[in-house]
Amino acid sequence: GLFPSFSGARPMSYAQMPNDLEAFWMPFTANRQFKAAPRLLVSAKDMHYVAADGHKVMDGAAGLWCVNAGHGRQKIVEAVQKQVAELDFAPTFQMGHPKAFEAASRVAALLPGDLDRIFFANSGSEAVDTALKIALAYHRARGEGSRTRLIGRERGYHGVGFGGISVGGIVNNRKFFGGLLTGVDHLPHTHNLEKNAYTKGEPEWGAHLADDLERIVALHDASTIAAVIVEPVAGSTGVLVPPKGYLKRLREICDKYGILLIFDEVITGFGRLGSAFASEHFGVLPDMVTMAKGLTNGVIPMAAVGVREPVFQAFMQGPENAMELFHGYTYSGHPIASAAAIATLDLYREEGLFERAASLAPYFEEAAHALKGLPHVIDIRNIGLVAGIELESRPGKVGARAYESLVKCFEQGLLIRTTGDIIALSPPLIIEKNQIDELFGILSKVLRDID
Ligand code: PMP
Repeated sequence: GLFPSFSGARPMSYAQMPNDLEAFWMPFTANRQFKAAPRLLVSAKDMHYVAADGHKVMDGAAGLWCVNAGHGRQKIVEAVQKQVAELDFAPTFQMGHPKAFEAASRVAALLPGDLDRIFFANSGSEAVDTALKIALAYHRARGEGSRTRLIGRERGYHGVGFGGISVGGIVNNRKFFGGLLTGVDHLPHTHNLEKNAYTKGEPEWGAHLADDLERIVALHDASTIAAVIVEPVAGSTGVLVPPKGYLKRLREICDKYGILLIFDEVITGFGRLGSAFASEHFGVLPDMVTMAKGLTNGVIPMAAVGVREPVFQAFMQGPENAMELFHGYTYSGHPIASAAAIATLDLYREEGLFERAASLAPYFEEAAHALKGLPHVIDIRNIGLVAGIELESRPGKVGARAYESLVKCFEQGLLIRTTGDIIALSPPLIIEKNQIDELFGILSKVLRDID
């Protein structure tokens, strides 16, 4: 064949087989390893993918944390088809179209508090860049242009733009790419296996780690600090649930010093925790919220920043004929993405998917924690419909055990996400209890066989 047979089993049908796999430089992938034994997905419906050799694969990761309503949802398909035929593209610079305004109103209505102003972007990375830039421009608009420092957190993931990797805290995502943004500090992460292993929901220990912000303020002076950005629950670095009270404490310290607080809800938004946003779940109102992924159920790239009214108003003080923010993307509020977002938000509401996630969470939690005691498992943590299973690394081979688990799970019909030696599970919110059993059943069988 043109490339090695797919996971040994059935041959790919001719129609589904790409001519070659060389040209696509795959993101965040060991390209040579992948192309030697590719895993290709060719279709999807509800909870399942179909792989190129025809075997069904349950989606244990909502794609990449994005397909919250499950795959192939007719309502979204129709909205996209209708929109592409009616208005394929329209600029939103000095121009507009109704769907972008409607999508923004719908997102604003879903966000808590006065997070009522919506700036559209196309990816989580762009949303993060946008939020950081708004923070800097906000202080400048208020005559506090000295506030230029940005504060992120170790093990934070905020996408791959220069802003995002600068405030992010993943060594490999930073070290190859030069000097990055200057004037960035990082809070400590909150992960601690000695104190918090096998916690269900929010850990008891660790709220005081937010006080590190006081150290940074003392070091640089509040008058130099623009914003703090954190994921309420860190997703990509292994499902790190915030300790009880931690986010409230961050909010209090930010308030004390006039620092903006940004929640990156690219993963936690749209029901993952059983509420529309994590800010609602934890009862902490940030000044800005970044979102993407579940905004369109992953169907069309779209992201957004939700901005609180006073932040927005700081930009509206100049002459009315002057542009307020020198920022935007060709595809900000793209008509097809807007239509997909509206249909997606309709689906979430009609099917009560956020409430469904909340009601399934205890069952999911028990199923996840039942893996305790399996070989190499050293921690299990969860909140809403997301769980992290941490494996002890094979000496000198960080990530090998989780990667082998991913390969074997895929062969046995389950798609999982891994980061280092942590397995993350975040199924679509439409999952049924018997499918939760099946998911953890496959994973547990696979883990028993990993040496
Ligand atoms: N922020 C967070 C919290 C994310 O989880 C991600 C993606 N996993 C991003 C930003 C980046 O989003 P994108 O890949 O769409 O740029």
